[in-house]
Amino acid sequence: MRSAEDPALSPGRKKASTKRSTRVRIDPARLAAYDLLRAVDRDDAYANLVLPPLLRERNISERDAAFATELAYGTLRWQGLYDQILAPLLSRPIVELDSGIIEVLRLGCHQLLKMRVPSHAAVGTSVDLARTVLTAGPIGLINAVLRKVAAESPDELIAAAVESAPGMTRDSALAVRWSHPEWVVTALREALGTDPGNIEGLLESNNQSAAVTIVARPGRGDRDELVRQGAEPTKWSPWGATLRGGSPAEIPAIREGRAAVQDEGSQLVTLAVALAPLAESLAVAPTHRWLDLCAGPGGKASVLAGLAESVGATLTANELHPHRAELVRRALSGASAHHEVVVGDGRSMSWPPGSFDRVLVDAPCTGLGALRRRPEARWRRQPRDVAGLVTLQGELLSAAIDAAAVGGVIGYVTCSPHRAETVGVVSTILQQRSDIEAIDARALLPDVPELGAGPWVQLWPHIHGTDAMFCALLRRTG
Ligand code: SAM
Repeated sequence: MRSAEDPALSPGRKKASTKRSTRVRIDPARLAAYDLLRAVDRDDAYANLVLPPLLRERNISERDAAFATELAYGTLRWQGLYDQILAPLLSRPIVELDSGIIEVLRLGCHQLLKMRVPSHAAVGTSVDLARTVLTAGPIGLINAVLRKVAAESPDELIAAAVESAPGMTRDSALAVRWSHPEWVVTALREALGTDPGNIEGLLESNNQSAAVTIVARPGRGDRDELVRQGAEPTKWSPWGATLRGGSPAEIPAIREGRAAVQDEGSQLVTLAVALAPLAESLAVAPTHRWLDLCAGPGGKASVLAGLAESVGATLTANELHPHRAELVRRALSGASAHHEVVVGDGRSMSWPPGSFDRVLVDAPCTGLGALRRRPEARWRRQPRDVAGLVTLQGELLSAAIDAAAVGGVIGYVTCSPHRAETVGVVSTILQQRSDIEAIDARALLPDVPELGAGPWVQLWPHIHGTDAMFCALLRRTG
């Protein structure tokens, strides 16, 4: 083990060397995984947006691409556990290591502990990677530390790491065991409510890659076409299909805009919002206007548009950010429903109160319900983010209620199960306003089991195989 004075150990976390040695030929999959981790750490990149084009640009074979993806995404998910395992093997705190060194060590750990790459290959290729991407200084350190990891059984290493969890609380032990920040474990356990025993199943699900689910856009696409091409019908959404493999870009219906990638949970909550009964006085009105208040990038809007058309309604899709509004325009470009895309802050729009009979608020949130799909997201979010989002969510929901006509329906949706963002926001608005009532959202999804105590709907990855989407339905009463 090198000493703390080793010149390779620098005090700055984001200081990995950018010079590349050409002396060693490193395999392209491991280099791609390392480069992705650097981009996530240094540039705050989104892994699932950066990796696929990076693999394509480098002409990495399909087999190597699958290895690189598992290595990179798995390392990002499990890095909390690996840091806990590595800490006692290092002579100074991990935060003081050059970030390039720690990333090579984490990649080595993932190969040894979760991918069952043979020890000599995992250690040897990590040393080769370090020779290519770092200076010569840390090579001895990387070799020595990974040899120590390779010498122990994975189960024993994990058990020892869990025993050393900070504070030794139940949530801190779960946080280390399943590699989540402790505050996220606590929030998820609280959200599970009556079934907190299920927390390990949920944390485990968050560490598994989610299958790619697509939606045949109502009015434009046909699920049978997707199924004929090998996709499997989703359990509950009538438009959904899950890919058994391959890339969504290869599917003609997606290329031609008749279908899009969308989690089944998003499809189900959109269906609930679209089908919730209006008060009779509104239901018989000659025209109907629907509003999607936070529409970017347009996934739910493109489904709503098809459903709106089937009942002769028009759709207004609003989005704060112009570049995201442009994505909504693209998503709606083939929709036959009459629609408009507007750019603005949903809290201060100029439409007259009571303009719409159906309003969706798919609110900006922590995204804690979609951790399966965003490998780095759990480390990026901070507990301090929650309060600001809750304020914004409450203001957007209040504006949505103002925009709804008496008898109209408001759907409040988040891709987070955090209680402050879900039940907290909705309960507060129900206390503050006397012109709304809650509708039992579970009744709109009669075939879907285990939706919670109601009247809200809460979906879960480990129960439903969907993202942890929340949906509350309100009706304007006065
Ligand atoms: N409904 C979208 C879909 O299915 O594709 C996802 C919506 S995303 C959860 C929330 C969106 O709200 C983001 O695009 C964000 O830019 C937008 N947003 C954030 N603050 C907003 C505001 N004050 N008014 C309107 N939109 C806002």
